[in-house]
Amino acid sequence: MHDKTLTELAAALAAGEFSSRELTESLLARIDRLDGELNSFITVTADAALEAADRADAARAAGKAGPLTGLPLALKDIFCTRDVRTSCGSRMLDNFVSPYDATVVEKLAAAGTVSLGKTNMDEFAMGSSNENSHYGPVKNPWDLAAVPGGSSGGSAAAVAAGLVPAALGTDTGGSIRQPAAFCGITGLKPTYGRVSRYGMVAYASSLDQGGPMARTAEDCALLLGAIAGHDLRDSTSVARGVPDYREELETSLSGLKIGLPREYFGDGLAPEVEAAVRDAIKVYESLGAEVREVSLPHTELAIPAYYVIAPAEASSNLSRYDGVRFGHRCENPTDLVDLYKRSRAEGFGEEVKRRILIGTHTLSEGFFDAYYKKAQQVRRLIRQDFLDAFEDVDVLMGPASPTPAFDLGAKKDPVSMYLQDIYTIAINLAGIPGISVPAGFVQERPVGLQILGPHFAESRLLNVAHRFQQATDWHRRQPAFGKENA
Ligand code: GLN
Repeated sequence: MHDKTLTELAAALAAGEFSSRELTESLLARIDRLDGELNSFITVTADAALEAADRADAARAAGKAGPLTGLPLALKDIFCTRDVRTSCGSRMLDNFVSPYDATVVEKLAAAGTVSLGKTNMDEFAMGSSNENSHYGPVKNPWDLAAVPGGSSGGSAAAVAAGLVPAALGTDTGGSIRQPAAFCGITGLKPTYGRVSRYGMVAYASSLDQGGPMARTAEDCALLLGAIAGHDLRDSTSVARGVPDYREELETSLSGLKIGLPREYFGDGLAPEVEAAVRDAIKVYESLGAEVREVSLPHTELAIPAYYVIAPAEASSNLSRYDGVRFGHRCENPTDLVDLYKRSRAEGFGEEVKRRILIGTHTLSEGFFDAYYKKAQQVRRLIRQDFLDAFEDVDVLMGPASPTPAFDLGAKKDPVSMYLQDIYTIAINLAGIPGISVPAGFVQERPVGLQILGPHFAESRLLNVAHRFQQATDWHRRQPAFGKENA
């Protein structure tokens, strides 16, 4: 059962091949056997999952099953869940149990899905390798010496290893697409505002967006339909109808105009990754697409602008963790200032502290104009680059990451880690959607093809990704790790 896609599982449940309880039990057993090594889950909610599976089976028996009823999935531990700890990968929230569910959690439960638990992540979603988690690093099932990518590394590794058919992640600067690429799965970052952020622990509020991670584009379409939509509790969510994202999956790509941004094929791109991406583009040509080169001239400013804006917003968002209302509190504080200082010093990890310091500095009097304001102006130019490119082409394509997954411990210098985000970060600054699909391997480590579209072009992106998956089988490959222990 663990090697089936979400769509195949939905069909099997509907046909009565097995029950949601049987499926849930089998995946929980697999998590039990394999996750000690992978570390992709922070919390496994076995009892609640079995209860939800029984409810789903009962709903099916009563003729009340929907398309997602009884399907298992996992949630990045950044989504608030009532009665289940939401740690956000941090010691600060190690003891935090939210009094409410995030909107997407509520929606998925209402659709009848079965959550198996909360997945590991970089602390407060800050990272590109999942090595910044208070709960230890996650390993990449394709090669246990490699990182799974970050910050949604637990979600990506769990899906790739067949512990769960799909998971939710969040993407502030690449955290759905890059781990999807590193783990050989499909991950979609929706348009900013498409999916409610209510109950999603805030990192950088103008960039954060939740989205689906699964084996196929078809599965992502199924999940996106369930989580997208306007939410009165998130004023940045957009009041716009939610289409059935599966409706356009089969649309022909004949005449599709693909732009290849020159800046995404330059220095720093590993030649084997480039070769895999160029092969993928050839597949598109054989499907009738037209390919041309385009330019996104402000690309090199994306990392500096992001690493001013994201830490600035983070320093503000993270000021709420003061040891008073919730989260970690130090022992025996001598006074209020001591309580603040020690609770924060003990609760936050190194990378989070670094970002709080950077953000506080760039927002401070005398530096605000030079850094934060400037970065916002650059952000506008970056957004305009994309709008201009989409005047001429339907979608943009390139690599999701300049290299395949790197070794655990290989990037000790924070700047070398930030440079990993070169192809993903501008997309969040512009607010547009992007998807990463499996497109080959470099020595057993997966390569992701990134496809970008204009605001709210999710149906198109899913269609373009789906047609590729009908023509290739990269997304069907599975790591030896799960098989040996199957
Ligand atoms: N790697 C980027 C960062 O560390 C993006 C993380 C994310 O998308 N959450 O900020």
